[in-house]
Amino acid sequence: MDKPLTGNAIAYRWALDETGYPVPIDAAQRGRRYFCPLCRGAMVARLGEVLQHHFGHELDTGCTPEAVTRAALRRWIVIQLRQALETQQAIKVRWTCWKCHNVHTANLLEGVSQVAEGYDWDNHYADVAVMDTAGNVRAVILVQDEQIPTPDTLQFFAREEIFVITIPASVTPTGSNFSALIAQGQLVGGPCPVLQKASNVIQEPDAIRQALRDVVARWPGYFYGPLETLDGLANVVRMGNHALWLPVERWREIIGGTRNPLAPGIQILVQTWPHTDGGVIWLYHATVRDTGAVGVRRYGPGQTPMAYIDARFRHRHTTALDLVRYFVTQ
Ligand SMILES: [Zn+2]
Ligand SMILES: [Zn+2]
Repeated sequence: MDKPLTGNAIAYRWALDETGYPVPIDAAQRGRRYFCPLCRGAMVARLGEVLQHHFGHELDTGCTPEAVTRAALRRWIVIQLRQALETQQAIKVRWTCWKCHNVHTANLLEGVSQVAEGYDWDNHYADVAVMDTAGNVRAVILVQDEQIPTPDTLQFFAREEIFVITIPASVTPTGSNFSALIAQGQLVGGPCPVLQKASNVIQEPDAIRQALRDVVARWPGYFYGPLETLDGLANVVRMGNHALWLPVERWREIIGGTRNPLAPGIQILVQTWPHTDGGVIWLYHATVRDTGAVGVRRYGPGQTPMAYIDARFRHRHTTALDLVRYFVTQ
């Protein structure tokens, strides 16, 4: 008869040794004592011939294998990072930046003075966070399985000017090689040095929204402009003496709107804002092949835009600026 499946029969891939160091099952030794990183209960390494090797709790607990793996991996990462800090090792990272489209390299531990095991930021949980001397978060590491982190959490952290690294829960570190572990993960984003240098470009959501409202308050009540590269920073629109940073990802976040894919390679985002005079402000962000443009127009009460898309916009010489100009000047 089959033995009933109890907590003891659940296979765990990780445990802590007597010193509190995380040990994957592949590195477990017969006769050593192990502990659960969550409940601190005793665990045994089952290294039999028949079943796949695994750890088991000596007493039944509610610890799930996923939670144990996550806790052990978190512990392992924190130990490596703290060691690297103490010995002043650099941890080099390299990524393609979605903000400026350049490849950047950086030392993850530059200016870092502390490593937190588990960090809550506005109800978003990071498994590991590294902070500078002023307590500002510089990087977060998220252990990832099918359910975590949620897209919400990932987006939340990716919006900040920090390093965001995801590590699959299935990884097994080799020795204490942190760089090899990161290589199995993904650098979702990092602080953009080009963006940080472009202090004259408006980047804050509120300031961008205000600039778009202000521009249509003036004659002739509309504005359109191409997205350009300014001092190495892509997706900048010049507006009088100002310059606004408006890549499409950013526009979706801070302006939003309905997405209209018009044809392959042609897309326009349309948003409306009520105006204090009872009219409506229409905002457009267009991407046409490798060109981008934004436009905005204020309509008085009772007025509505008359623009519609016809075949001429599928012409291969049409730019995003042509499209937006047409929308706001109709
Ligand atoms: Zn446990
Ligand atoms: Zn960049």
